[in-house]
Amino acid sequence: MKLSIVLVFAILFISAGNHSSARIRSYKNMSNSFSETDSVARNSYTLIFIDNDAQFAKQGALVKQRMIEAFFKVYPAEAKVFNKKSIHRVTFMIDPEYQGVAATAGDTVHFNPEWMLRTPTDIDVVTHEVMHIVQEYGYSAGPVWLTEGIADYARYKFGVDNAGAKWSMPEYKTTQNYTNSYRITARFFVWMEEKVKSGVVKDLDSSLRSHTYNNDTWKELTGKTVDELWAAYASNPAIS
Ligand SMILES: [Zn+2]
Repeated sequence: MKLSIVLVFAILFISAGNHSSARIRSYKNMSNSFSETDSVARNSYTLIFIDNDAQFAKQGALVKQRMIEAFFKVYPAEAKVFNKKSIHRVTFMIDPEYQGVAATAGDTVHFNPEWMLRTPTDIDVVTHEVMHIVQEYGYSAGPVWLTEGIADYARYKFGVDNAGAKWSMPEYKTTQNYTNSYRITARFFVWMEEKVKSGVVKDLDSSLRSHTYNNDTWKELTGKTVDELWAAYASNPAIS
């Protein structure tokens, strides 16, 4: 990564009660790349919003505001249910170098500006990604399909506008398996919460964070192996 001198030419600070926001806009003058940072604090949570894409700064004001509103609605709610020790300071980065939709590393979520501008209704990408911050599993905690299934389950439960994004649980198909990850696994969790044991996702999440998760965890939590649970799901997959 190139080092460059940052020229700060505008600082805006607004404060009202326990809500505050600050803005620093800068141009890295050697590479001529754009960067604008907003800091928004509400109650005990702070969101640092870094926009490294000039196009997003021009056209993304509305989607940015919706992302910020979604964060403050969803993240404290997810933390309250799953992990009360979740960190209170999170960074969103609009990252033109990121090629996927979004990805989370540590306390920072990288968003693809092109995706967010093209698909502004997909606001609950935020809900999925910040769940990864709540999860905080570290390395070698369990299979990726489980991590992603839980994040999509959180999107299903806490999402602010899944309908607007036409995002919903896919119908069960015989070709599916719980390892298919994302929504397919999330739907299995919805079924488990309804038909097997309320709170089971929270318990799975907790076992992953404490690195106590293993193949026996399912049996300990529900009396059945994951394969037995899936077979029961496959035989009657209805959810309400
Ligand atoms: Zn994910």
